[in-house]
Amino acid sequence: MLEQIEPAPADAILGLTAAFNSDPRSEKVNLSVGVYKDEHGKTPILDCVRTAATELAAEAATKSYLPIPGLVEYREAVCDLLFGSGHEVIEGKRIASAQTPGGTGALRVAGEFIKANLPGATLWHSDPTWPNHPNVFNACGLPLKKYPYFDSQNDRLDYEGMLAALKKIPAGDVVLLHGCCHNPTGVDPTGQQWTEIASVLRERGVLPLLDFAYQGFADGIEEDAAGLRAFSTEGAELMVCSSFSKNFSLYRERVGALAIVGKTAESASALQTQLNAVIRRLYSNPPAHGAEIVNKVLRSATLREQWIADVAAMRRRINNMRQGFVDGLAEAGVPGDFSFITQQRGMFSFSGLSKEQVESLRDEHAVYIVGSGRINVAGLTPTNLKYVAEAIGDVVGQA
Ligand code: PLP
Repeated sequence: MLEQIEPAPADAILGLTAAFNSDPRSEKVNLSVGVYKDEHGKTPILDCVRTAATELAAEAATKSYLPIPGLVEYREAVCDLLFGSGHEVIEGKRIASAQTPGGTGALRVAGEFIKANLPGATLWHSDPTWPNHPNVFNACGLPLKKYPYFDSQNDRLDYEGMLAALKKIPAGDVVLLHGCCHNPTGVDPTGQQWTEIASVLRERGVLPLLDFAYQGFADGIEEDAAGLRAFSTEGAELMVCSSFSKNFSLYRERVGALAIVGKTAESASALQTQLNAVIRRLYSNPPAHGAEIVNKVLRSATLREQWIADVAAMRRRINNMRQGFVDGLAEAGVPGDFSFITQQRGMFSFSGLSKEQVESLRDEHAVYIVGSGRINVAGLTPTNLKYVAEAIGDVVGQA
């Protein structure tokens, strides 16, 4: 029975890392997967995480199961971080929530929840989007459609196109939006545009689903929640998938959350039972370690302060690399104006390189970026920056 099964196609992003790892060239640079690296090219364990983990090891009293939706304290701390403590959705007990295995786990639980509870709903995602979005939601059996997002001629948000498309989405459908640091384009709506998008969706009776995987990587932890909070108005419904992989550098611990905001407290209680039912049949209950770390850091004034400083340092380093990259491209004589790279937010830059140029970069220079032309700026360092800029200069020159 098993012998006839063909190999699956390589993953669009993680497949590249597998190829990178087996590349023997010493000059190789991996700018594909969305992982933060410091100026030495290492993905660090944050000091606040190390301290919290040490304290937890000393305090640990049991390894019994967590409840189906995870640690209560963690879920509350996450909701404070997302909506702001004391927000009406929290005080009004309008949130059903769950601790999930990473942001991807939150997306999958959200997809399964939609499939089970909103029969017939189509999920609309931006064009382009993170390639794993269609994978996850297809696996849930949801019909998918796209709305326009990026104006590649001018390297900016196609706001007019996006809004026009959102205004035609039928009531009862779900719209997936990136809460900040849109992946792969690095282009987000402004505060004013978020407010307008939120009111269009609300008027149409369309449910917003925000994927919020990069809180703190654009302007700041509070600032980056502005989009999400534009949706969290009196009586409004929404879903939020969040992740601590990037902003806590806890990638392998798989720490995320799903928050579903209902119209009323009674509705939220019903949503919580349906959410629990989905999780019970998917993975029963989540792993504890990563969420316990995040909970400890968020609840300790000292560790929280350290964490906020750590996120600010990661953000500053990425922004310095953006400027360094633009300067490096100019020094390498690459024709064109690349200043848009400094305007993009989060880990990624949408370089505008063609599929062929991306392939030449990999084959001729051992520089790995995603086929869409997405570059992980957080993987650039003062050491590899010049090499990467010159390699891009070379492949652009060949075109
Ligand atoms: N959503 C987006 C847009 C992402 O880029 C990522 C990670 O790359 C995720 C969700 C999932 O993150 P996690 O590693 O927490 O599953």
